Amino acid sequence: MPRPIEALLHPDALAGNLRVARHHAGDSRLWVVIKANAYGHGIERVWPGLLGADGMAMLDLDEAQRVRNLGWRGPVLLLEGCFEPRDLELCSRLNLWHVVHHEAQIDWLAAHKTHQPHRVFLKMNSGMHRLGFTGHHLRSAWARLNVLPQVDEISLMTHFSDADGPRGIAEQVAAFHAATHDLPGERSLSNSAAILRHAGDAEVRADWVRSGILSYGSAPDFPEHDSAHWGLSPTMTLRSRLISTQALQPGDTVGYGSRFRAEQPMRVGVVACGYADGYPRHAPTGTPVLVDGVRTTTVGRVSMDMLAVDLTPVPLAEVGSEVTLWGHGPQGSGSVLAIDEVAQAAGTIGYELMCALAQRVPTRVVEGPGCTMAVSPHPLQPQHVQPCHPPAHA
Ligand SMILES: *Cc1c(COP(=O)(O)O)cnc(C)c1O
Repeated sequence: MPRPIEALLHPDALAGNLRVARHHAGDSRLWVVIKANAYGHGIERVWPGLLGADGMAMLDLDEAQRVRNLGWRGPVLLLEGCFEPRDLELCSRLNLWHVVHHEAQIDWLAAHKTHQPHRVFLKMNSGMHRLGFTGHHLRSAWARLNVLPQVDEISLMTHFSDADGPRGIAEQVAAFHAATHDLPGERSLSNSAAILRHAGDAEVRADWVRSGILSYGSAPDFPEHDSAHWGLSPTMTLRSRLISTQALQPGDTVGYGSRFRAEQPMRVGVVACGYADGYPRHAPTGTPVLVDGVRTTTVGRVSMDMLAVDLTPVPLAEVGSEVTLWGHGPQGSGSVLAIDEVAQAAGTIGYELMCALAQRVPTRVVEGPGCTMAVSPHPLQPQHVQPCHPPAHA
């Protein structure tokens, strides 16, 4: 039998999350952001869930090529634009729209030979100071692009640094407005946090919104709001099983560095999941986890291939019990462990955990939200042995 860990991917949940984005975004068109291989999910694995978007946005040309190979004829946007002149050939061939955020990209366009003029998104640095043109540089870039035969349509775009927090977006929206209000073209401003928190403002919704993390069921402004508050559902479940249980006496310690010491007699379970699977090594004792759908916590340090959990709230748990590291709990339990909670305990964000899912973890695509593991050797809780929905893709 293979090691029991697996990741389940839920394209239906992704489709539902995109409906949430649409609900907030009104008439704006919706980019689904699929960079980093769809935030670690695998573009091909969650493909059916992405099709409700109006366009797909990413950074890697390889990913753009993959969505074209999958048959996507709609808009594709390269969020960082071209990295070198010959990237423009692929843009011409595959009809990719691309961001222009520095002068050299305009030079490359000016020298590019194409029969098909390109649609570009001119990026303004409205205060984040990562990519884009500021103030009068933006206007001269626009003027340069505007006379190039290689350029068809110029759209305008910016990115918010604080849409999820107290600083908000007002200053950046004002800077964008001041620099662009008299320029023609479509506009795109909002990431997930802005879609959920600020899309009541038509200027913020603009023509296109860019739905990233919310598409994958994580709340961009956790812990102020959680995914349930926004009606989002996890698109990735990481689950495994207990491969050992241990009875501890007071004073016994667990794991490397003896970071956890029992104060009273207790049982712990050992889970086939470690940092080599993408579980965060920095998750401390007390990080939430589900055992047989019951909420408990990790104890001690996370090892490469294993971690330990407190079985006190789950006295019937045994070797073989299902463990949910994040995502949907056992089928029928209705339980969910938000990836945001695990991330917060480990001092990171849901984005990083999704993107860090390790290659060695087998993945399975399931229809509907949760899915019970196919084989459960658990003798005491036979109701947990239920067939899985057939996978949408092998
Ligand atoms: C990643 C990215 C997004 C999506 O951000 P989320 O916070 O995941 O919604 C939007 N726009 C740009 C330019 C990005 O790089």
